[in-house]
Amino acid sequence: MRATAAGIRQAADYLRRGRLVAFPTETVYGLGADATNADAVGRVFQAKNRPAGHPLIIHAADAAAAFTVGAEDPAAARLGERFWPGPLTLVLPLRPEAGIADAVTGGRSTVAVRVPRHPVAAALLREVGRPVAAPSANPHGRLSPTEAHHVRDELGAAVDLVLDGGPTEIGLESTVLELVGARPVLLRAGGITVEELEAAIGPVDEPAAHEPARAPGMLRKHYAPRTPLRLDADGPLPNEVYLGFGEAPSAACNLSPEGDLEEAARNLFAMLRLLDAKGARRIAVAPIPDRHLGKAINDRLRRAERGAASPGGTGVVQTVCERPS
Ligand code: AMP
Ligand code: MG
Repeated sequence: MRATAAGIRQAADYLRRGRLVAFPTETVYGLGADATNADAVGRVFQAKNRPAGHPLIIHAADAAAAFTVGAEDPAAARLGERFWPGPLTLVLPLRPEAGIADAVTGGRSTVAVRVPRHPVAAALLREVGRPVAAPSANPHGRLSPTEAHHVRDELGAAVDLVLDGGPTEIGLESTVLELVGARPVLLRAGGITVEELEAAIGPVDEPAAHEPARAPGMLRKHYAPRTPLRLDADGPLPNEVYLGFGEAPSAACNLSPEGDLEEAARNLFAMLRLLDAKGARRIAVAPIPDRHLGKAINDRLRRAERGAASPGGTGVVQTVCERPS
């Protein structure tokens, strides 16, 4: 359904009645449910085939609403002021009086909250007037959806309504920052860079490799196409399709011919989907500079490399992506 004012009102009504609504955010499409309704939240896990214990991010209309769910401290307040609405998720101590369904947090005493800046998401959340739990609207372990038809193609009838707001602006999931212990910890690289966070609140730790439980749901394998990937490739080998970055004449798709990291982030999942459908043996991916948004892109590529299912096809593919004119 188009995200008109009437569409948004209907979507809000669906959410209040415990139904599932997919909606655009500036990062990727989310699969939303009333976070206070245990049945609705349960159906989100079912629809995604998401293992219980992988907590969901709560979306709120503004910082005041977000801080009724997660407890505010001075760092959270500063980050909220600086980056909300926007692609930053904060993991905070849960406020039990918010009445969030246990499954949302996997029974933890912490909760992840964010205030999206996409106008459709913002209008929807204002209209619902309740916290909405919304993970990315894709089957567990697969690429996140950046267009409404990705959601319909992959989740189909499990979603009661898909609000179509066009392609998403950032194309990668939100940055997740934990503000629970003595120092802030980056749980997931994303739309807000570590450099930006540190400019606002000082040093941010990266989770130690031996602490996998720290970011539940942050699996080493994730965000995966079916076709295997080969990273840091200077060009395609026989039976590979090439996903370029910067100048790359042999590329079937190019994340950003001009070498722009924001453009590359926006294109990443949609281009991987296109290449995945082409039956190549492998997708070779150009090196991406490991700075700013490039860190989040490389994080997703490394997880996708580990998550790809099986040897791909054998077809040789030439051009796949049209350059927008
Ligand atoms: P997704 O909704 O699939 O984009 O991912 C949500 C991610 O947020 C999870 O995979 C976790 O990494 C993180 N997250 C959500 N809730 C919590 C929490 N209570 N504690 C730590 N991390 C969380
Ligand atoms: Mg996800």
